[in-house]
Amino acid sequence: MPTYVYEAKDAAKSCNRCRGSFEAVQKIGEPALSKCPECGADVIRVIQAASLGRSKTDLMYRAKRAGFSCLKKVSNGEYEKAF
Ligand SMILES: [Zn+2]
Repeated sequence: MPTYVYEAKDAAKSCNRCRGSFEAVQKIGEPALSKCPECGADVIRVIQAASLGRSKTDLMYRAKRAGFSCLKKVSNGEYEKAF
């Protein structure tokens, strides 16, 4: 089953799990998560398939190429849309 990567939409409303990014294993065709399973904060899927790459940098790069929204950490606890 593919692994998907999610991040909290709003770092101010996130828990330790979703503040950075977390992975969720889902069946093909299963709808994307919209809430963090831990705290219920809104999350976004940042890439479609973890098999595209291993490193965070590579994931971000490939996510960008694929047109996915990504967040980048700009300072302690603050995030902004990287692209
Ligand atoms: Zn959370």
